[in-house]
Formats: sequence, C-alpha cells, structure tokens
Amino acid sequence: MNAETNARNHWFAPGWWPLALAVAAGSVSATYVPVALLTLPVTVGSTPAAPEALACISGDNKMVPSFVAVPESLSERLFEFEVALVQAKQIVQVFARENGLPPGTRLEGARLEVYPSQEKLWRCMNRTPDWSEPPPLPRKTFVAANGNPLRAVTPEEFARVIPEYAALRRDAWVRLIAHELAHNWHAEVASRKMGPHWFFEGLAVVIANQGFGEDLHPKSADDALQPIDWSGRYAYAQAAASVRFFLKRAPVKTLIERAQMPDFETWLRKLPAKPPKTPSGRL
Ligand SMILES: [Zn+2]
Repeated sequence: MNAETNARNHWFAPGWWPLALAVAAGSVSATYVPVALLTLPVTVGSTPAAPEALACISGDNKMVPSFVAVPESLSERLFEFEVALVQAKQIVQVFARENGLPPGTRLEGARLEVYPSQEKLWRCMNRTPDWSEPPPLPRKTFVAANGNPLRAVTPEEFARVIPEYAALRRDAWVRLIAHELAHNWHAEVASRKMGPHWFFEGLAVVIANQGFGEDLHPKSADDALQPIDWSGRYAYAQAAASVRFFLKRAPVKTLIERAQMPDFETWLRKLPAKPPKTPSGRL
C-alpha cells in the first residue's frame, strides 16, 4: 500500500518547539534530540489524497513537519505522542548499543500514525472506506503495525484491547511503539531474514522490555520451541519466554545471526546451557 503518499498529506503538527521546551525542561534526553531535529522529513507535499486513502487519518493539510500524524480528534495530543516516539526510538537504540549491534539507519527517521480505535487502524491498513466492511482482524489483540510510518492505536485503546499487557508497565504504550520499531530495526540489521515468527515477535517484546511472559519458564529447548497459537491471547508472552530461554544460552547478536539460517531451530536444540559463572577472586 502507498502509505508514504497518505502520510505525506496529513502532517498537521504544531511544530517542534514543544519538544525543544521539553528537552530544556529535562523530560527528553538532550543527547537524542539534535539528531532528530536534523532529520526532519523533507517529503512534505500537497499531493491530493487518493480516494482509497479516505479511511485513514485526515487532517487540514497545514503541512508543518512532524514525525507523528494523528486525526484531528487527537491533534491536542500530538506532543505527547512525539515524546513517546522519541523515547521508543531510544529504547531500541540503547538495546542495540548495549548488545554490540549496529543502530541501523532507519530508526531516526521513523514516523508514527496514531488511531483512536482498533477499527480505525484496521480500516486504514486495509484502505477500507467508511461505507464498506473491512476484512476480519488478523487477531483480536491487533493494536499496532510496523513499517514507516508505523501505526498504532491510542494508549487508551491499547489498554481496552489488551488490558493484561498494558498493565505490565507504566509506559506500556511507549514500549508498544518500541516493539514495532524493534521489528523495523531487526529487519534492517538482519537484511529482512528475521527467522521464525516466534523469534522475531519474542525478540521485539524483549527489546522493548514489555514484560510479557516473564512468569513463563520453558523447561527445555523442545518446550521453548513448542508451536504457538498466534490467535491466542498469550501468544506473545510465550514467544518472549522462548527468546528469553535461548538468551540464557547465546548472546542476542548470535541468535539474530543464526536466525537468518534455515537450520536455526536445529541449532537451538543443540545449544548447551551456559555453565554457571565461576565466582571471581577465588583461588
Ligand atoms: Zn510484533
């Protein structure tokens, strides 16, 4: 779908000065923002919206550049969402840095569209006009989609659709955005060879530190590689628990590299558990 064209038509942010104020006030990392300011989108234009884009965000085309686009009903919350996007980018960047992985080139320019409801988001994804029914949801818990722009429902809609996940972190919505950014980043650093579904979904949960499945503890590699019912409510928790299981046996950098190969799961089954650390300083 031509998301670029649609997103380009609807930037009506009040501009970047509120973010600069927030930096001055210390609520946003000062080391982060100058880069973001340097990478303002340059694709702002005035191409008329295509008819099939009508189910998506529609604004008044004021054409002030921003990394976030919202429908008019959410325009007063634009700054809140812009700050969240900056924080989400930072979560992924810190993860990459701490694990010796490249930052990628696309995170800085990532854009976000926020929708007031699951239905509106899904209509946009499918370009379904208001007078028509969209196809069935891919899963009941559908609340966001990666890509650029990445798309998500509001924090309130997220909490309504998946309360058990939204309650796990005070900043659960920022981490939802980080999850989608993590997919974008993973796709880039792995040249789109992201491995099995359970691996890239579980990895995104781990990178975003969303907390899903922290109470699950697979007992063996076979247990961790059990098939997942993706229509189930706790599929993401199960995937994250599996990734955490293998992270105790290999660094994330190695897992990302090996996941690009067809024998990934066979290799995982043979991975020995890491030996317990020898206490240092003992003779
Ligand atoms: Zn995901």
